[in-house]
Amino acid sequence: MGRLKVSLRNGIFVESGSTTYALDPRGAVKADYTFVSHAHLDHLQQGAKNGSTILASEETCLLAKARGINIPYGPPDKVEGSLLLDSGHILGARAICIEDELLYTGDAAGRSRAFLGKCKTKKARVLITESTFGTRNYIFPPISDVVKDVNRTIGMMFDKGRPVVLMGYALGKSQILSHLFSSWSPLYLHEEVNKMSEVYRGCGIPLKKGRPIPQDLDELKRSPWVMVTPVMSYRNALIKRLKKECDAAIIAFSGWAADPGYRYSIGADFAFPVSDHCDYQELLELVREVSPELVYTTHGFTEEFAADLRKEGFDAKPLDGHQATLADY
Ligand SMILES: [Zn+2]
Repeated sequence: MGRLKVSLRNGIFVESGSTTYALDPRGAVKADYTFVSHAHLDHLQQGAKNGSTILASEETCLLAKARGINIPYGPPDKVEGSLLLDSGHILGARAICIEDELLYTGDAAGRSRAFLGKCKTKKARVLITESTFGTRNYIFPPISDVVKDVNRTIGMMFDKGRPVVLMGYALGKSQILSHLFSSWSPLYLHEEVNKMSEVYRGCGIPLKKGRPIPQDLDELKRSPWVMVTPVMSYRNALIKRLKKECDAAIIAFSGWAADPGYRYSIGADFAFPVSDHCDYQELLELVREVSPELVYTTHGFTEEFAADLRKEGFDAKPLDGHQATLADY
């Protein structure tokens, strides 16, 4: 069994014998392999430095390119010593298993929704798991219940002649929303959403081609419609106009919508907890599936989730900012 060492160097740094891995580095780090889990901006570094070989899915490279960041796609999903697993978070998102000993989830989904599945896992001795929603108040309802509620809400709005804006992150959530609510028409897509959806379509995901938002809102005043946009606050100029001139109802989608205050903070009329991350229960299930000897938590409620895992009998500690306390594995 090889010796693994986990530390922090501009992100997570793993040494496995003489082979080094930078996991989602936030800047240039010298390593044999640089793993880019997915194409959200907080996980993209500006290309590989010092001859590092990139480990990322082809979809991640295509999405990054569409966002103006060049990640050279070269190796297959599997190179010697490591294995990439679909993490279900957004198109192309991957977890990585190193030497059959360490699993790093990146951002991970806990359930199937639309065309994406949940994070695939593998038994590992050391687990580095995300903990974005790592406290017990973040439990999301089943997707099928949310879809029913949202369709009922859109129907009610349409009956009153009111159009509906569906808001979610431009990359990931918006494409899920476009797919889940594609039966409504006409469907308008915000430019930023459509740019990302084009990459999804190119990768074979059947997303309806919506109409672009017209400059002149007159076309939007005649009858109800559905529009998918990035998350924008009530102070955004477009949102203000859509509310004032079209009486549009704003529906926001986020895991944070489990907080009653979320809807008010962005000024939405409705908010539904739909997330591309695991909820608290799904995080626990993920850890049990991997059955690790040691868990590091990263992102979000790292301290809280590690504490709950310890109560379950796992050796768990937050990774972020605790470099000095890290031991060799
Ligand atoms: Zn992400």
